[in-house]
Amino acid sequence: MSEKIKALKAEISAATAKTQDELEAYRLKFISRKSVLGDLFADIKNIAPEDRKAFGQEVNEVKQLAEEKFKELIAGLESADTGNKSSAPVDLTLPPNINLGTVHPLTYVHNRIVEIFQKIGFNVADGPEIEDDFHNFTALNFPENHPAREMQDTFFIESNPDIALRTHTSSVQIRIMENQKPPFRALAPGRVFRNEAISARAHCFFHQVEGFFVDKNVGLVDLKQTLYYFAKELFGQDTKVRFRPSYFPFTEPSAEMDISCNICKGKGCNICKYSGWVEILGSGMIDPNVLENCGIDSEEYTGFAFGMGIERIAMLKFQVNDLRLYSENDVRFLNQFKHLS
Ligand SMILES: [Zn+2]
Repeated sequence: MSEKIKALKAEISAATAKTQDELEAYRLKFISRKSVLGDLFADIKNIAPEDRKAFGQEVNEVKQLAEEKFKELIAGLESADTGNKSSAPVDLTLPPNINLGTVHPLTYVHNRIVEIFQKIGFNVADGPEIEDDFHNFTALNFPENHPAREMQDTFFIESNPDIALRTHTSSVQIRIMENQKPPFRALAPGRVFRNEAISARAHCFFHQVEGFFVDKNVGLVDLKQTLYYFAKELFGQDTKVRFRPSYFPFTEPSAEMDISCNICKGKGCNICKYSGWVEILGSGMIDPNVLENCGIDSEEYTGFAFGMGIERIAMLKFQVNDLRLYSENDVRFLNQFKHLS
């Protein structure tokens, strides 16, 4: 038996581990519960009682030796690891090799819009993405069964009473007008939802910024000047603006605003469909019914509202031709916006 122990001691002393696999093989053979040492301890019962003590001591020595060697092998592997790393020359003058992310183009446009309107006194407001029928439709002058509701089909969570994912952030306008006293000057940015087939030009969710201003004697001239200022700040001072009459249930009169195409400078290209103009937002004077629905005297107060899609503005600003790119998290796409960070 002592021959076997001698051989084991020699084997342990000579053991090396250059890789994690070799270390693991050593551990299995000499340290783990099923190691050869385990077999030796099991053998104790077969030894003559008078020799047991001596044998037990010998086995314990082997065990200690095996454990010390194991620590040695671990330390050896660790120093080999760090040794490899520190062997490369370090140039402290180089910029750190950290792969920083970028500001998402939608975040950038969102921040720019907020910044521009904050300069002229607009607050930023927030509201729930899951809305009831009153705040999303009824209070905004969408009568039940009105075809305008069809244009804003969404995802219903409950029915009777209807609870749905909001189709616009105009619901935030209602929540503010219900709970506060005019004057109001607020922006409501946020995610909105529509039940639409996903394509390059439409998605089942997108981001919108709604803005509104309610006070005594607010008129169309205030709406136009505010939006002229906005378009020039965002797209450049040489940007031309035009309004086209439109229809929204919650504003009267309503208008869509176009800007001169910032890609072809009005000469005509496929982005502006060779018209020289691109639509960027919808706007109008808040319908007196909407003010009254929120308990505001429409004889005393008037206001304007506007809404725009952040994706659409970002598409125009960065010439992105597919809406889906914004939510696919493709690093090749996102890396193109490094200059914005
Ligand atoms: Zn164009």
